[in-house]
Amino acid sequence: ATVKPAYQRILLKLSGEALMGDDAFGINRAMLAKLVAEVKEVVDMGVQVGIVIGGGNIFRGVSQGAAGMDRANADYMGMLATVINAIALGDAMNRGGLVARVQSALTIEPVVEPYIRGKAIRYLEEGKVVIFAAGTGNPFFTTDTAAALRGREVEAQIVLKATKVDGVYTADPMKDKTATRYNKLTFDEAFVKNLKVMDATALALCRDQKLPINVFSIFKAGALKRVVMGEDEGTLVHN
Ligand code: UDP
Repeated sequence: ATVKPAYQRILLKLSGEALMGDDAFGINRAMLAKLVAEVKEVVDMGVQVGIVIGGGNIFRGVSQGAAGMDRANADYMGMLATVINAIALGDAMNRGGLVARVQSALTIEPVVEPYIRGKAIRYLEEGKVVIFAAGTGNPFFTTDTAAALRGREVEAQIVLKATKVDGVYTADPMKDKTATRYNKLTFDEAFVKNLKVMDATALALCRDQKLPINVFSIFKAGALKRVVMGEDEGTLVHN
């Protein structure tokens, strides 16, 4: 019997840190290959995949801003870091049996395509993986917010937020042994309890747009596929 995925179109948010693997900085090639394999599993099931990639493995505007740099300039550097990651991920995908297109919110024409919503949707319909780079294109935002925004724009049914921890917990499971995982949460609960799902701007956008979020661990083999199959994996945040 064929089992149908629960979602036909997803927006996957990968943090820059997901590309580091066991390294302390930058892009780990073995980790890239692993990520490509995880994504290929769901693409092969016919699921359309958009990806927003972060840049924290290379540069974070927030910390540099706090250290005295002009925050907007620091954020532009952060956005450029996400373009570097997007090119690396797209390259690995194209060599790993997928067809990837990178679209950037900041125009860097000879290097990556500019973000064009209609074109992105067409690529998704064609089964291509679209990697959205440069976040929202605006300083003072994050790639979490870009994920919520692009997710809504391309009419994804869900945002999948890939983290190190396999969901949202009652407390930090690294520090508190009694912490338990929520398998479901409402947006309001997440706000009231100040739970770490995504940043507040992203969370508010998803809540207003009724765009559910599933937080899960990208380091757990097969977890992405299980989320896409609608299984109890990570934490589902919904209206
Ligand atoms: N950034 C930005 N606007 C955006 C998205 C990202 O200015 O719309 C900058 C910001 O400086 C941020 C950096 O890009 O620190 C990297 O993105 P993020 O921290 O979200 O990456 P992640 O933590 O997911 O690796």
